[in-house]
Amino acid sequence: MLVQQRFYIETLGCPKNDVDSDKIVGTLLADGLAATDDPSLADVVVVNTCAFIEEARRESIDTVLALGAQRKDGARLVVTGCMAERYGAELAEALPEADQVAGFGVPVQFGRKPLTVSSAPIPSFDLLNLPRPKSSSPWAYVKIAEGCDRNCGFCAIPSFRGPQRSRDIESILHEVDELQAKEIVLVAQDLASYGKDRPTELGAGSIVPLVRAVSAAVERTRLLYLYPSDLTDELIEVMLETGVPYFDLSLQHVSKPHLRRMRRWGDGDRFLQRIADIRALSPDAAFRSNFIVGYPGETEEDHDQLLRFVEEAQLDWCGFFTFSPEEGTHAMTLPDHVDPALMNERISELRGMQDDITASRRDDLIGQTVQVLVDEVGIGRTHREAPSIDGVVHVSNTLAVGQFADVEIADALGPDLIAIGADTSQFDEEE
Ligand code: SF4
Repeated sequence: MLVQQRFYIETLGCPKNDVDSDKIVGTLLADGLAATDDPSLADVVVVNTCAFIEEARRESIDTVLALGAQRKDGARLVVTGCMAERYGAELAEALPEADQVAGFGVPVQFGRKPLTVSSAPIPSFDLLNLPRPKSSSPWAYVKIAEGCDRNCGFCAIPSFRGPQRSRDIESILHEVDELQAKEIVLVAQDLASYGKDRPTELGAGSIVPLVRAVSAAVERTRLLYLYPSDLTDELIEVMLETGVPYFDLSLQHVSKPHLRRMRRWGDGDRFLQRIADIRALSPDAAFRSNFIVGYPGETEEDHDQLLRFVEEAQLDWCGFFTFSPEEGTHAMTLPDHVDPALMNERISELRGMQDDITASRRDDLIGQTVQVLVDEVGIGRTHREAPSIDGVVHVSNTLAVGQFADVEIADALGPDLIAIGADTSQFDEEE
């Protein structure tokens, strides 16, 4: 009797990796393998790694080693994702545990084949247009482009993900259809640049027609990672029309000279103006942004500007990351690297301030009726919360998963909201 082979996949890093993992799952299922949640039972163990910063790389290696030790005799260990792409041969040498180190789009092998290392500097074949299984939750990420044409001083992504390649609208819509999700979260390295690499074929180089088309197919369309100069009036208008006024602005800093050192556009005043314009059109709009703390040359004055901005902007959500030096980036050529102890001091100051702002913005919702999409039993999200990134709304366990419901907010607990009817015993236990 032929025993069906099983696979286990562990995904690290960002939402874009989740999408790639889904596609690897799709191809492994199509190859006749079955999924398992238990790595020790799998015949193929896949680790989809992240190379974003040093900490992520360490976590990726630790995961590979841990799963390598856990796997059963004869199981294959496959390392894929950003680390495999960026450090292919080096990684294969450093990790003799791995049977295959495969860059993007290199098919995962489950037979006893020789070790494979991706050698192409830029992937010639992407996972982008591979089929995906139906989404197991009411929301799903969809990657609309791969690569990036920008040159931010701290970022190594363009060097190993390559230039931007936008997908066809038809192929994206087909994937949206396959997923059968209620909420689609569009992701890419530089989302609002979608289509610029293929202006004649794709909506005159604008993401707007795509957002319209996706939002006609699903109840919620959410956009992540908007480079601020690409947040045009037209894009704001279409985002408001979709009914998900959620703006994830990739700002990184606000001090103008410092942004130029980062090789990025804009300054705090422009960002504040844009945010105010959007709030004037849609008072319910929610905002998220990310900032890098301690990029070379960041002065006390730059840091103070960022603090003032955070205070004034009153964003719903902010992520702060300490600068991580990446080989081959412009930042590595700059003088005045910031002492790690000072970086940590600055980041805790920013995080402390933002935690209070987030909590107060959540408190403002107490007593309001909001519409949630129920992601799992007892857990929902309004337009204000991106899945897996922001807080959640605790709702009644009686609401069906996948349903939209209007709920009244009774309380707030840090980043989370508690609706009337939610099971609060879990919070009592925590007290
Ligand atoms: S926009 Fe900048 S930070 Fe984002 S992937 Fe491109 S180069 Fe990196």
